[in-house]
Amino acid sequence: MNTPCALCGRHDVTPLYLVGERHIVRCNHDGLVYVDPQPTAATLNRWYNEGYFTDKKREKDDYLGYFSYLDEKPLLIPYFKRKLAYIKKYIPTGTLLEVGCGYGFFLEAANTSAFQVTGIDVSKDAVTYAKQHGSNARVLSLTKQSFPKNAFSGVVAFQLIEHLQHPLEFLEIIHDITKPGGIVLFTTPNEGGYLKKMLGKRWMGFRHREHLYFFSPNTIRHLLIKAGFVDITTFGDEVRTYPIRFLLAGAPNYLHGAWFRVVVSFITKVLGIFSCLDIMVPLPLNSLVIAARKPSVS
Ligand SMILES: [Zn+2]
Repeated sequence: MNTPCALCGRHDVTPLYLVGERHIVRCNHDGLVYVDPQPTAATLNRWYNEGYFTDKKREKDDYLGYFSYLDEKPLLIPYFKRKLAYIKKYIPTGTLLEVGCGYGFFLEAANTSAFQVTGIDVSKDAVTYAKQHGSNARVLSLTKQSFPKNAFSGVVAFQLIEHLQHPLEFLEIIHDITKPGGIVLFTTPNEGGYLKKMLGKRWMGFRHREHLYFFSPNTIRHLLIKAGFVDITTFGDEVRTYPIRFLLAGAPNYLHGAWFRVVVSFITKVLGIFSCLDIMVPLPLNSLVIAARKPSVS
């Protein structure tokens, strides 16, 4: 079945790319890029419950989930602390909800902050880990009934909205549970960014088969306005630095071929001899950060 555009509800699209077996299209009315047709809810559910946060599920020409999310923890905690500092510019204190909290690294980063943070995620394993590390997390798929109106001072969702089958409904629920004057903060791959322009169908955003929508600053802005948000700001996310060891371990997930594995293993050995594997190098991910407010008087 063909999927209507999440922004305008029409189905009037131009095919862009065939990535694996997925057709990526662009809406002719507003430019929103998405997967059409989309996988069923049952298929998505199966993907998320089979070792999603580990590297067990890599298939031939796409890449599901996270290579090894736990390995990224020492890098992500300071990253999330900087995001909390940014939120503080909008609201000095209050309650925050993180949708899609995964292992709860944002929640851990927030433990020593001025905010009281709750996390929800559909992955049981991830939530168990988060709770074991002292975070307030629970297994929950966000619906209209999940929380009362105006329950939180702010809502955050990192690299989540591109996974959702109904992004507009998601933003409407977020709008409902955010207090007037509250903030929402998201990150998502930037479909309007330079990496997408350079790489075309080989862009990393397209390689994850669970990514269903691809937002540019323009399309995400329109979606937020439709959901009732104001003061919308979009900007490029910071360039993160990773140890060379981490990049070499993850590289074969993006660049296939036996020859490449040989080259990577050779480079790893040589750098290991010279104890260079822990040198930190910048990795441009070209993600988009989006912040917006619920109007103070609604
Ligand atoms: Zn549209």
